[in-house]
Amino acid sequence: MDVRLNYAPCGYVSITHEGIVADVNQTFLDMMGYRQEDVVQKHFETLMSTANKLMFHSYFYPYINLDGHVEELLIRLKNSRGESVPFILNGRKSEREGREWLDCVLVQVGKRIDYEMELRLANKQIEKAYWEKDQALAELQHIYAEIERKQTELMEINTVLLELSNTDKLTGLKNRRFFQEKLEEELKLYSQTGIPFSLFMLDIDHFKRVNDTWGHAYGDEVLFDVASVLQTHAREGDIVARYGGEEFVMLLSRTKASEAKVCADRIRRAVSDFSWKEDGVTISIGIMTATDALEDNEATLLEQADQALYASKENGRNRVTHYEDLKLQGSPHS
Ligand code: GH3
Ligand code: MG
Ligand code: MG
Repeated sequence: MDVRLNYAPCGYVSITHEGIVADVNQTFLDMMGYRQEDVVQKHFETLMSTANKLMFHSYFYPYINLDGHVEELLIRLKNSRGESVPFILNGRKSEREGREWLDCVLVQVGKRIDYEMELRLANKQIEKAYWEKDQALAELQHIYAEIERKQTELMEINTVLLELSNTDKLTGLKNRRFFQEKLEEELKLYSQTGIPFSLFMLDIDHFKRVNDTWGHAYGDEVLFDVASVLQTHAREGDIVARYGGEEFVMLLSRTKASEAKVCADRIRRAVSDFSWKEDGVTISIGIMTATDALEDNEATLLEQADQALYASKENGRNRVTHYEDLKLQGSPHS
């Protein structure tokens, strides 16, 4: 055998058509740990397991007979230690000295399989990492959605809490705190725009008598009903609040004195006209309107509305008094 073929960097085996090894190169013998006599003149299939023999019969022979060659057949051969060594086999049918030979080149693929295993493992790890990343992402999205939901919930609760903190429990009207805030805002607006606004103080007449005669529970009912009448007859945008006890306040934006008086009287009448379960109920009202002459703060405004209310009481109750009228006439009257 040519020395270059004998030591070529791949195995070379030449077999007869019957499968007997006629020639083998040194590289193959070295790879497998065989001596020449272990292989030559032996059937090539003696190096194969039963499964490989079957494969050899069903692929190698049919292809080589049909096409005259076989490419990249993966085959396992036993070495001298009985270990199964994987090879890629390329075979070709050729004729020499009037005989047919099957020349085979064998390249060991142990390394390649190792690489493939490593690659497959790495792929599996990458797949796992991707899967874990996707899981984490889904979890994160779930957490974000949960946070968003909680935030919405919190905002809703805050709205309810704010509403509660501004509401009078018994009547459902706005409470004094809310009213005071709005009054401050209204005064600020007034100092900027000069548009007048009016303020009512309303007080149930002889309410003590209602409690004393019909009981505290009925008194509460009357407070609730008066509140409803006030709210019903207020215009949109007017603020109606319970100031404390049986006293109420109303804030009317963009309302001058003349309009305020008409409005207050309408409300006074609505209360006295209400179909009360027991004795009739009336209210007295004091009005103050913010004017150019006004230098005051909310305390003096309230104080002046209260003085007007006092005049309504003094003059017989169930009536409306505007503070401006008190000033003009020099003495309290309705
Ligand atoms: P006036 O016409 O001068 O306003 O007389 P009045 O009886 O209405 O006034 P007074 O201040 O003497 O009495 C107010 C009464 O309101 C006394 C108090 O017990 C009662 N009152 C205050 N808050 C409530 C409440 O929440 N429920 C009930 N039922 N009564 C209340
Ligand atoms: Mg009172
Ligand atoms: Mg009263």
